[in-house]
Amino acid sequence: VVGLAEPEASLAGAAASTGPTARHRIVIVGAGFGGLTTAKALARADADIVLIDRRNHHLFQPLLYQVATAGLAPTQIASPIRTILRHQANTRVVLGEVEGVDVAGKAVLGQGRRVPYDTLVIATGATHAYFGHDEWAAAAPGLKTLEDAVSIRRRVLSAFEAAEIAEDPAERRRLLTFVIVGAGPTGVEMAGAIAELGRRALKADFRAIRGEKARVVLVEAGPRALAAFAPELSDYTRRALERLGVEVKLNAAVTAIDDGGVQLGEERLESRTLVWAAGVRASPAAAWLGCEADRAGRVVVEPDLTVPGHPEIFVIGDTAHVRQEDGSPVPGLAPAANQEGAYVASLILHRLRGAPYRAGPFSYNGVGILATIGRAAGVVQLDSIRFNGLLGWLFWSIVHIFFLIGFRNRFTVSLDWMISYLTFERGARLITGTVGPPD
Ligand SMILES: Cc1cc2nc3c(=O)[nH]c(=O)nc-3n(C[C@H](O)[C@H](O)[C@H](O)COP(=O)(O)OP(=O)(O)OC[C@H]3O[C@@H](n4cnc5c(N)ncnc54)[C@H](O)[C@@H]3O)c2cc1C
Repeated sequence: VVGLAEPEASLAGAAASTGPTARHRIVIVGAGFGGLTTAKALARADADIVLIDRRNHHLFQPLLYQVATAGLAPTQIASPIRTILRHQANTRVVLGEVEGVDVAGKAVLGQGRRVPYDTLVIATGATHAYFGHDEWAAAAPGLKTLEDAVSIRRRVLSAFEAAEIAEDPAERRRLLTFVIVGAGPTGVEMAGAIAELGRRALKADFRAIRGEKARVVLVEAGPRALAAFAPELSDYTRRALERLGVEVKLNAAVTAIDDGGVQLGEERLESRTLVWAAGVRASPAAAWLGCEADRAGRVVVEPDLTVPGHPEIFVIGDTAHVRQEDGSPVPGLAPAANQEGAYVASLILHRLRGAPYRAGPFSYNGVGILATIGRAAGVVQLDSIRFNGLLGWLFWSIVHIFFLIGFRNRFTVSLDWMISYLTFERGARLITGTVGPPD
């Protein structure tokens, strides 16, 4: 495992403890929503648990866009994994990057090291997909990690700074144009937040560009914004974005991207700041396991979330393709990963107790979908209950605060949101790292 935070000897010692008389060893890879839920639900298991993640923190991805648009600081949406699990005696946290799995030898692999397991849970999430155009990534970064969010924040804020001193009017327009590709929840939330940031910052804090308007364009290949929501909520979202000054371009597929703009067929949008919120690809777990994957790279698992032919290996969350009763896959959402983690933990607990237990198939309880558009509008779809506007935004805010990990984070996020609601200020407008757009 790459970059282990603990000496190799201690891992080697731990490895040696797996004999016929040793305690059952559960290795969980990934401490996102799915992996962390699994680990916590196994707190009382009579087993040794090793939780491996390549980052030292659990990240609350639904609020990443707030870091990218200077609304929140990175520390408010992330918590150290060690701290979360500090009271869980049967669990060891390991910082390291997994690179493969020796399925026959039952060990997780990384940089020449092996971590043996009796039961393996893979919950390594997903990353951006550029539909075969990985070269677009440099000009149009995606939003998945804290580093991505801080880098996008730097690009957005630096664009305003560069526009303030730009002498060429065409370059100034290019700098004040922001293009977001993909009108799913992340794209919509980014577009709304950048439009508000632009309005406020340009009017209050700059001199040369005070009279100008930031142009925010949201580009979507499909016919609707928020396609997973009911059509009336999609329409409301488009109108709410337009009220904020966002141009919403539907049925507009991106055909080329470079660091000066984006091509939509015949049309070109000149922009120095592009954000990619369009595609998702699962982590490479299917390649590690040598098993079937769907088009998004997700491992096609059995109804009990095990890998076909390997009841000792589970794959959950954004890395898994699980079919629901109607044949559609379980969506890549935090509640789905949480529910899968809880299901797998209960199955493992039953196995450990040797209880006669036949697991029914995993069944996702779809609790609903939410999104926000700027600082006072939201859309909420809970089965047949649908609402929007300020009430939608309030509901969205309460739900997100409730699910954030850690009292400190909940408290500071609530306080920051109250302040920015009243003052329109965004509290984390810091350019860190190298100054000057683009990165
Ligand atoms: C910007 C954004 C906004 C979102 N908004 C919402 C929302 O509003 N509502 C909602 O329900 N869902 C939302 N989602 C989706 C939700 O975050 C995911 O569905 C959820 O995180 C999936 O959980 P997971 O456990 O599968 O993966 P993740 O939570 O992504 O966790 C994966 C973990 O695995 C680790 N990892 C990956 N590869 C390796 C490796 N090789 N070795 C070691 N560790 C590894 C990562 O560091 C990470 O900690 C959003 C996602 C994004 C990116």
